[in-house]
Amino acid sequence: MQTRVLVTGAGGFIGHHLVNFLKRQGCWVRGVDVKWPEFMLTQADDFRIADLRDSAACDEAVRGIDHIYALAADMGGMGFISANHAQILHNNALINLHTIEAARRHGIKRYFYASSACVYPEYRQVEADVTALKEEHAYPAQPQDGYGWEKLISERLCEYYMGDYEIQTRVARFHNVFGPLGTWDGGREKVPAALCRKIAYAKIIGNREIEIWGDGQQTRSFCYIDDCVEGIYRLMQSDHGEPLNLGSDRLVTINQLADMIAGIANVDITKKHIPGPQGVRGRNSDNSRLREALGWEPCVSLEQGLAQTYAWIEKQVQQQLSGRVNPVIKTFQPSNPVRLRPAI
Ligand code: NAD
Repeated sequence: MQTRVLVTGAGGFIGHHLVNFLKRQGCWVRGVDVKWPEFMLTQADDFRIADLRDSAACDEAVRGIDHIYALAADMGGMGFISANHAQILHNNALINLHTIEAARRHGIKRYFYASSACVYPEYRQVEADVTALKEEHAYPAQPQDGYGWEKLISERLCEYYMGDYEIQTRVARFHNVFGPLGTWDGGREKVPAALCRKIAYAKIIGNREIEIWGDGQQTRSFCYIDDCVEGIYRLMQSDHGEPLNLGSDRLVTINQLADMIAGIANVDITKKHIPGPQGVRGRNSDNSRLREALGWEPCVSLEQGLAQTYAWIEKQVQQQLSGRVNPVIKTFQPSNPVRLRPAI
């Protein structure tokens, strides 16, 4: 029988890609979000606008569903996360408490929760040349931000619900997911998208100076979206009930990332380092347990992923500069905001 799945946060970057992936796996998919996908029509069989901080809205969202992929969150890049601790903890705690409780009430069998590398303690991430993080390194806990603390408590929520009730929970800790169709301006964008945007502007307008927060020597690993959705699906099919890293283990500095994107764009840039939130000094994913648990790990190279992402963002910048409205956004003015069937 066809599995009926719910993807929360389906109007967002990863949720939108996940909906498409699950459709390709033959699932019937309901998407829920407070907003429509911004850049492309959803392929969900049923897409609903709902605020999942509300328990009644969660009940409606999970009705008739077999499996849940819980991705909804009030989130953004470092600029947003480091400036909105109370709002983030409040909103995300409500979303996750109500979503999993609705899942329990409705007898949902499997529940995926999107956690983050932000759960890892600051004291393990003070050097750029950081030791890659293993899952057990999350404790003793000292996440950097309200965002990370909430992720950690929601991980525990999943663990306790699985222990106390008849629900199988799966938890992935994403490490910097990037790709096309993600937020690329407006303040919630993450570093790969922000750098692609700045470099696209530099190329088109001709001002080659790119601003980078901090000295650019801070390090991260970056996971391409196709790997992320595949990893989510593989984890959901697996028996692995404990939190699992889902990321790349290739560490690069932010300066290197900027140079790679500039190379793809074929433009010479000058990096201007300015004060700004940088997060932890270094962060990498140890994928030993991922390989063990899933017999798989992310395989799209950073170069391949950035080429796809840059090409898409350059197009968005060109559209913005020419004053053209994205035709998909124009389409998304639904007269009935409760449900919109895809027109593709
Ligand atoms: P996103 O912001 O693009 O998607 C999150 C979606 O949740 C948004 O569309 C938003 O509108 C929706 N949402 C927010 N509040 C809601 C509410 N009250 N009710 C219903 N929907 C609501 O972010 P994303 O990058 O797609 O992230 C998806 C998940 O993965 C999030 O839980 C995020 O914390 C987690 N994550 C992402 C990354 C990453 O690098 N992108 C890294 C670690 C963890």
